[in-house]
Amino acid sequence: MTQVAEGVYFIEGQDESIPDSHAYVVGKPGSRDLSLIDPGLMGKGNYKIQSIQDMGIDLKAITRIIMTHSHLDHIGCCAEIREQIPWAELWVHDIEAGPLEEGDERTVYGMEMFQNMCMMQYNLKPGAFTFYVDRRLQGGENLDIGGMTWEVLHIPGHSPGSIGLYNRLEKILIPGDVVYADYAIGRFDLHGANGPELKNSLVQLAELEVNILLPGHNRIVKDLPSGYIAETARQWASYLA
Ligand SMILES: [Zn+2]
Ligand SMILES: [Zn+2]
Repeated sequence: MTQVAEGVYFIEGQDESIPDSHAYVVGKPGSRDLSLIDPGLMGKGNYKIQSIQDMGIDLKAITRIIMTHSHLDHIGCCAEIREQIPWAELWVHDIEAGPLEEGDERTVYGMEMFQNMCMMQYNLKPGAFTFYVDRRLQGGENLDIGGMTWEVLHIPGHSPGSIGLYNRLEKILIPGDVVYADYAIGRFDLHGANGPELKNSLVQLAELEVNILLPGHNRIVKDLPSGYIAETARQWASYLA
């Protein structure tokens, strides 16, 4: 785990045959009100927890888990992590909160073939990803958490309840799987995905000033060129129409 900016820590995903999402911890260390963004893949709970402790962060200071979205590679080790921080609340966008509470795992797995493969490979039971959601995010909130302000952006398309977290002061964007480095974007063929919505979300993100891009996978970018997301949106526009 490395510190990207004050109050922003990065834990690199450890990809297996299935990718493991990056996790981020946000919040000023003295606040004792830290948020873990996106736990990651099944089996990665201990690695993520160990990484947090190796940075000298007290687990008791983590008060919530915020999901950028509920795909398997982001939520897979959520239960493992909650065993170690059972007091932490779970915050998810409203659209994906309902299915998580009802045990509807279509968004978690994305497609049926992948679901069957994962359930066999990881010995998962139906309903393994059923969670009570403490706070349903809508988009548009300004979250005052951990001594920082993070805006919630509803940016559907990769999944229906994808959110981005944006720190306007430091120009930091955590976009989940909506946009990556190197002009890449999240896939838009899974359950609940929608190309035109993803296009609109990219256009929405292109309006932000972003210096630090912290996506769910691949490399992070600390000095993002201006106009980068706009250019990404432009390159993908015809595929997303
Ligand atoms: Zn992902
Ligand atoms: Zn995803």
